[in-house]
Amino acid sequence: MLPISSTDRVFILCGAGVSAESGIPTFRGVGGVWRNYRIEEVASPYAWQRDPRLVWEFYSMRRKVASAAKANPAHFVLAKLEQTLGERLFLCTQNVDNLHEKAGSCRVIHMHGELFKSRCDTCHRPPFDDSHLYEPPAEIPRCPCGGQIRPHICWFGEVPFGLNQIYAALDECTIFMAIGTSGVVEPAASFVAHVRGRARTIYVGPEHPANASSFTECHLGNAGQVLPRLFGP
Ligand code: NAD
Repeated sequence: MLPISSTDRVFILCGAGVSAESGIPTFRGVGGVWRNYRIEEVASPYAWQRDPRLVWEFYSMRRKVASAAKANPAHFVLAKLEQTLGERLFLCTQNVDNLHEKAGSCRVIHMHGELFKSRCDTCHRPPFDDSHLYEPPAEIPRCPCGGQIRPHICWFGEVPFGLNQIYAALDECTIFMAIGTSGVVEPAASFVAHVRGRARTIYVGPEHPANASSFTECHLGNAGQVLPRLFGP
């Protein structure tokens, strides 16, 4: 078990590996949805300008996959940890699925956006809940302002969401844990360097991440098995 004192503040950074045991393919893993698309053609502002239908085809397919998925033991352990630690837990995920919420987590920062939300590409109308499947040849839906409705996703080349909150939480944390993230995608890959030397830094996943040297501990194994050992079932 991981000792957590009453003064500890825990920052958890999740990556695609946390949802792997729920059947949602990781980005760099073999097989799955990502292998069938060139990423710059479906997940970038350039892609949206060039072929919004192809973008919606990709995200509609990901909505289908994610809506069929169930939360796994890793999500449930983290939801329980929120109940125990309250605001002393900061849960930040790079995942766009809603499996933390399905497991009962209430305060999740989705730094790369949310698969089941959409927003206007033109006006400042806030992102809204949306689980439609926009498949070609359907028209791209329009906002009342005339703009096009796009997925509420942080694409390659865009700025992640919630960075002010995230860096404030990093500055306060005493324990930093990254789970199931390859340590390649920035800025998340550099969070551990931001807290290193000041907080205990722990990695959980089946293999060492690219930034492994910044962690003081690596617990190798699947999140669904390691997290119940570290935090209790
Ligand atoms: P990544 O695909 O680069 O790395 C996944 C990591 O998870 C790997 O290091 C792998 O070893 C590890 N892993 C595999 N199975 C695991 C398990 N059972 N338990 C713990 N770890 C496991 O993913 P990334 O670092 O999160 O970056 C990829 C980007 O793609 C992110 O920006 C993310 O938004 C996006 N993405 C999201 C989802 C999702 O929402 N579920 C899925 C795929 C990709």
